[in-house]
Amino acid sequence: MNATTGIVLGALVGGVWLFLLWLGIVIWTYKDIRERSRDLFTQALSVFLVMMFFPGLNLPGLLLYLLLRPRETVDEAYARSLEQEVLLREVGEGAMCHKCQQPVEKDFLFCPYCQARLREACGRCRRPVSLFWVVCPYCGAPRGAPVGQPATYRAPAEEPVAPLREPAPGTEIS
Ligand SMILES: [Zn+2]
Ligand SMILES: [Zn+2]
Repeated sequence: MNATTGIVLGALVGGVWLFLLWLGIVIWTYKDIRERSRDLFTQALSVFLVMMFFPGLNLPGLLLYLLLRPRETVDEAYARSLEQEVLLREVGEGAMCHKCQQPVEKDFLFCPYCQARLREACGRCRRPVSLFWVVCPYCGAPRGAPVGQPATYRAPAEEPVAPLREPAPGTEIS
């Protein structure tokens, strides 16, 4: 009788202890993943990973989570993305074609791969100027108000556009 009660009590205490351990691991995982991912699915999956193991036996789940979790927290990732942005800016606008993503030189007016317009020659000094700049950084000429030059610069290599041979309306014979 006493022995049985002891066993039941022991099992109960052990069970409660294991449950609390399980709960602690689940809560810790939840807090940890929230710092590492804003993605709800990732959060749910991580908690589920440590939760699905039997109470008290979820240490394998915890180890698995520690292996799989995002290495850096959201704050760390944010700091890193800021750094990368600065680096990208240093590389320079126009280092890559905005249309086809091919590498281009900073002074290219047109993308040699897809013919997209990258820059415009300054109306006064003819140096390549970004389409987003307001004035030419080399000579100070305002963009869009060229001095004695045509507003649009045409690439010398540009292919002549064949005239469209569409019949005028009404000329078609039925
Ligand atoms: Zn291109
Ligand atoms: Zn200029």
